[in-house]
Amino acid sequence: MTNEKIKEKINELVEQLNRYAHEYYVLDSPTALDQDYDKLYQQLIKLEEEYPELRLSHSPTMRVGDAPLSEFVKVEHKVPMFSLGNAFLESDLLDFDRRVKERATEVEYICELKIDGLAISLTYENGYFVQGATRGDGRIGEDITANLKTINSIPLKINEIGSIEVRGEAYMPKESFEKLNENRLKNEEQLFANPRNAAAGSLRQLDSKIADSRHLDVFMFGYGEWEANKSHASHSERLNYLSELGFKTNPEWQKFSQIEEVLNYVNYWTENRHELPYEIDGIVIKVNSIALQTELGHTARNPRWAIAYKFPAVEAKTTLTDVELSVGRTGVVTPTAVLDPVLIDGSIVGRATLHNADQIKLLDVRIGDKVILKKAGDIIPKVVRVIKEERTGNEVAYEMPKTCPACDSELVHLEGEVALRCLNPDCPAQLKEGLIHFVSREAMDIRGLGERVVEQLYDESLISSIADIYKLDKSRLLTLERMGEKSVNNLLEAIESSKTNSLEKLIFGLGIRHIGAKAASILAANFKTIDHLLGASYEEIVSIDEIGEIMAASVIKYLNEPHVKELIAHLKELGINMTYKGPALETLEDDSLLFASKRIVLTGKLTHYTRREAKEIIERLGGEVTSSVSKNTDIVVAGEDSGSKYDQAVKLEVEIWDEESFIKATEGE
Ligand code: NAD
Repeated sequence: MTNEKIKEKINELVEQLNRYAHEYYVLDSPTALDQDYDKLYQQLIKLEEEYPELRLSHSPTMRVGDAPLSEFVKVEHKVPMFSLGNAFLESDLLDFDRRVKERATEVEYICELKIDGLAISLTYENGYFVQGATRGDGRIGEDITANLKTINSIPLKINEIGSIEVRGEAYMPKESFEKLNENRLKNEEQLFANPRNAAAGSLRQLDSKIADSRHLDVFMFGYGEWEANKSHASHSERLNYLSELGFKTNPEWQKFSQIEEVLNYVNYWTENRHELPYEIDGIVIKVNSIALQTELGHTARNPRWAIAYKFPAVEAKTTLTDVELSVGRTGVVTPTAVLDPVLIDGSIVGRATLHNADQIKLLDVRIGDKVILKKAGDIIPKVVRVIKEERTGNEVAYEMPKTCPACDSELVHLEGEVALRCLNPDCPAQLKEGLIHFVSREAMDIRGLGERVVEQLYDESLISSIADIYKLDKSRLLTLERMGEKSVNNLLEAIESSKTNSLEKLIFGLGIRHIGAKAASILAANFKTIDHLLGASYEEIVSIDEIGEIMAASVIKYLNEPHVKELIAHLKELGINMTYKGPALETLEDDSLLFASKRIVLTGKLTHYTRREAKEIIERLGGEVTSSVSKNTDIVVAGEDSGSKYDQAVKLEVEIWDEESFIKATEGE
């Protein structure tokens, strides 16, 4: 590239990034994805490093954030509020460690969650909260004291002399964010793109009643100007002091002396971040020693003693090309967005749920629209936003049909329901879904009868009801495509062995509305046989703890339908077990059970059990299996090759069992 071309490119990047930064920081309404902004930003940094003479004075790399809004009184930060340098790869963290180690051979790091909110500064004079401000451009922020006072976790008075400025992050918990956007949808107001923008938008309101209604929270993690500056030698001492003063600090921070441990912490949270009730967008790694921090100093924008590792993106932009409908087991018709496939959080996504007609209307999503997809944990990706600015005028609005796409019956809204339903009991789509549910793991658990095979058998008219599964004929099965001798034998064996399942699996498999796997177990343990359940009155059912009125009514309604009575009689004739074989009811509720009220995490590879079997054992013994290790975890059962969950358990001093101990402890039970 010629110098002229590079100049042009730099200019273009600066213009574009400044426009995005304005939308993001000032308007709280970004049109670009963070990862796209970050990519362009890294490009600019690289060019500026190679051609420092071409750096522009208004380049975004020269400053933090954006200018404060003129509606607010300006606040000057006596100690500048920095942003943080970014790391996207493990190698970036290793580079950071190397740079720090140029100054000191032994380094302790503090790792903290990077809360996805906005930076705030709180000033206290002789113990009283006198001023709260945004970061703004790092030197001048906005006075948002009244709004910050609405946040209950910010103390209005602390036990500290002189002037102290405490810094941290204000954020909107996920639950508040979802409620807020739901309400905005109802009122046809523009949606917030993410909790970070929603938090910023809420705190930059002139009317503090609005901030009050938004249920914000804070985590504090640092200091600005501090008159009485206690002689703390480390960041960890300072964090502890903040807690002592009554500030809310994030409990997940940890101290490490090896960069490998830092990487483990990063990996742990990359995997488990979705379980937190607030959003985090990375991990902040800080040098613990204050003396070393001072020695390392800072650049124009970032301290050199800290770095922010950013998680891989969970948002992506793509085009919605169509809407498809599916009919569930209970007749609910669900629209799914068909998308131009796009990479998100490590996997290619081509479809995303749109939930229901209301959601389509409220998002105002049209076929041909550019949309933002978001993936959280294992949850199916969602369309969260439409980029209306990029509409061409050729987009087509989508209307939900009036009739069922599978059987053409009229679709209805049941009272109080948002969903559209097909009420035809013979609707083929519902029957297929009902069969898929019946054979699924938590129900009758018939291996070899996956979704595809059920569909094949249904389409070939081999099964149309649950009972037909138990009447399948080997020679007929062998005539089907992709069905060899071995798979047919395996399938028939799995069907046969499912006949001996305990009653709760059958009850759950029947697919009674409002009766999940747990309620099915409770019913089975209480009534012991299907005949007792069939003979039970509404009062008897509703008197059971944990079975509510809606559940009880649904059971009664279902079991009284003539075709259900017929089905059950038929299944009995076919030899399906109708009695409960699980632990006695008293033991289900027994506090003396081995794992009564215990929260247990499984990690690594177990050799004697599958994860699911181990989970079943724990649940039978009164325990609950959770996925992430926290201070509330009672036991971690660690198999071979346990990774970050094991490390986390060691750090938090949670009891750890190997597989052998688990087997020994549970054997006799
Ligand atoms: P940043 O988000 O990369 O990180 C710095 C901030 O992290 C600090 O100011 C602090 O507020 C926060 N933080 C949270 N937890 C922390 C902790 N435990 N310790 C220390 N700090 C913590 O920097 P930024 O300047 O706030 O924002 C830059 C980022 O914003 C970009 O990387 C980009 O992703 C996004 N952005 C997006 C657009 C867009 O158009 N989409 C535009 C501008 C910026």
